[in-house]
Amino acid sequence: MMSITYRLPQVRNLVTAFPGPKSAELATRRKAAIAAGVASSLPVYAADADGGVILDVDGNSLVDLGSGIAVTTVGASNPGVVAAVQEAVTHFTHTCFMIAPYEGYVAVAEKLIEHTPGDHAKKVALFNSGAEAVENAVKIARIATKRQAIVVFDHAYHGRTNLTMAMTAKVMPYKQGFGPFAGEVYRVPMSYPYRDPEGLTGAEAAARALLLVEKQVGAENVAAVVIEPILGEGGFVVPAEGFLPALSAWCTANGAVFIADEIQSGFARTGAWFACDHEGVVPDLMTVAKGLAGGMPLSGVVGRAELMDASHASGLGGTYGGNPVACAASVAAFEAVEELRLLERARHIEGLIRQELGDLVGAGVVGELRGRGAMMALEFVKPGTSEPNPDAAKAVAGACLAEGVLILTCGTFGNIVRLLPPLVIGDDLLTDALGVLKKEILAAG
Ligand SMILES: *Cc1c(COP(=O)(O)O)cnc(C)c1O
Repeated sequence: MMSITYRLPQVRNLVTAFPGPKSAELATRRKAAIAAGVASSLPVYAADADGGVILDVDGNSLVDLGSGIAVTTVGASNPGVVAAVQEAVTHFTHTCFMIAPYEGYVAVAEKLIEHTPGDHAKKVALFNSGAEAVENAVKIARIATKRQAIVVFDHAYHGRTNLTMAMTAKVMPYKQGFGPFAGEVYRVPMSYPYRDPEGLTGAEAAARALLLVEKQVGAENVAAVVIEPILGEGGFVVPAEGFLPALSAWCTANGAVFIADEIQSGFARTGAWFACDHEGVVPDLMTVAKGLAGGMPLSGVVGRAELMDASHASGLGGTYGGNPVACAASVAAFEAVEELRLLERARHIEGLIRQELGDLVGAGVVGELRGRGAMMALEFVKPGTSEPNPDAAKAVAGACLAEGVLILTCGTFGNIVRLLPPLVIGDDLLTDALGVLKKEILAAG
């Protein structure tokens, strides 16, 4: 096992008022130049990042429990990824795979085929963003089935393009005022164990959803059922055991394509290569992005060869899709997961989080601690109830930030604090950050 090397000191250290003078100056320039609709969680500007820290332009060192939304899984400047990018750019930055193809694209496809669930024949297409991968998975499912209806779930997040806005559940901030939305998208209930009636099994929750599909959409019209095996923006909800296998079996029985959107839950994040692996679910198609290329923009659709081959030539593609520099980074990121044994590391991080925060559940504002691997969340409620408590989540995240710990919130009700540390974060730094979080949760009641 290779050991993790860090370029930057792995410490939490605030050296200026927050934000410092250089960040304040950048905030003024930003206000004049950047569209108001593009918001940031942090009031400070990044100058460097490595391992578990982000260094701001004033020299403040923050602990990163967000990984740029589950992207810098192997670190924000993983040495292998950096070297691969440097090597790639000395040759070419772009040729366009649709014009002059290159090996890196093929190598990433082979890695995805190797590491995704199922040993059937698979093929791959690469794109740039997660939303673009979801759009293309839908295109592939529709042309392969010659059907149109797309089934999605409550609390789902699939992106910000027109089709993926339609597939995303939450109106504010993702959809408000941006319609009209794409048609033939149908939403059914998710399995949400903390909020479902007590004792509802995964199979029962699947039956609840599929009855609606059969009565309101018609099984013979369904091109695809699209689901995040663990909800991302929707609140890190892990569906009840049996829910995903029941949906997958229904798709097989009814000629629909089962699409797992593993953009947030995939690529080692949950302690397995993909979250589907935890229940042995083999999706027909899978979308991947976020952690896939160590921070470089890259996404893909991987799945059954006969589905992936359903499109006519040139039906799929895009100018930048599978950019050579991003592909080189991705191959290095796959290697880093193996060399640094990051699947094990993700499971170790889950253990640490459960050990440090487990005793907060039930008392005060924490209703549930859930997740898998390094994709963990706390659901905040009003004490003694299960009523969502977004104010507490926001207050805790804000207080942590003021102490140099970057924590993100999410969830339909905005009441989830999510923990997505880079898998290369050290135990000492993570324990320090969790200590700050615990202190602030106790202070919140
Ligand atoms: C982030 C995300 C997307 C969208 O990815 P972008 O790269 O932001 O377009 C889609 N699905 C899931 C599950 C995500 O977490």
